[in-house]
Amino acid sequence: MILREALQSATQTLRRAGIADASVEAELLLGHILGMSKTQLYTEPERSLTSVETEHLCHLVRRRLDHEPAAYILGHCEFYGIDFFIDCHTFISRPETELLVEKAVELAHRISQSGKRITIADVGTGCGAIAISLALALPQAKIYATDISASALQVAGMNCRHHAVNSKVELLQGNLLEPLPQPVDMIVANLPYIKSCEFKDLSPEIINFEPTVALAGGEDGLDKIQQMLEQMPGKLNYGGCFLLEIGQGQGRMVTSLIKSYFPQASIELISDLGGIERVVKVGL
Ligand code: GLN
Repeated sequence: MILREALQSATQTLRRAGIADASVEAELLLGHILGMSKTQLYTEPERSLTSVETEHLCHLVRRRLDHEPAAYILGHCEFYGIDFFIDCHTFISRPETELLVEKAVELAHRISQSGKRITIADVGTGCGAIAISLALALPQAKIYATDISASALQVAGMNCRHHAVNSKVELLQGNLLEPLPQPVDMIVANLPYIKSCEFKDLSPEIINFEPTVALAGGEDGLDKIQQMLEQMPGKLNYGGCFLLEIGQGQGRMVTSLIKSYFPQASIELISDLGGIERVVKVGL
């Protein structure tokens, strides 16, 4: 089989199974097997595939037909223009979360204008996407990245070494803010916020493959956020701030939850490009 035919056949198989963006996914799988970029795939359409390569493609297409997300099949995802290793122990970082990083970078620049070396905690770091994006954007910052899952932290460690930020990002295992060794200037978190009743509506890609611990937020979706607010005293420096990603429609409830713990807090809800309130920014 030649490359053009392999691409057509994989695309058709995925499309028939109802996989959205079948051609993009076929390009990803084939590019992964052949170690070729998307552009290369189209500049060498006559290249023939060995039988091992063809068999490998069939195997990966079958995994995708079983609803395994392409990011897990490939073992990496892109976030904030940076490539991250991931595996079944880590959530696949979503483009929505880039807004959280953008806002954190803006705020960190403002705070560090005073010449201070800012300290930041990324809570529930997963594969380390937020912490590492911040470390690369803010070379002066000291970053702590916590996660309850030792397996997720192993992946985060690989990513830190790969992006040469292991001296700037300190990985800590534990529940939310608990493992922080000292108060920080800023806390950033994309905690699980899916309500129990929403689980039945999730796609098989999410429900069967992404770690439940990275998704489940309890009955109202806010269990983890509430736990973190409870742990907050003593973990944030005077005048510190925190930024959280929230789910669609959670803005009002999160705001009143934060007010109940910190009545004096200044709270701002920031919407994404789709007009969905996505990030809550809190100054204490
Ligand atoms: N902080 C990680 C991310 O946004 C993991 C989030 C999670 O596991 N809920 O990608």
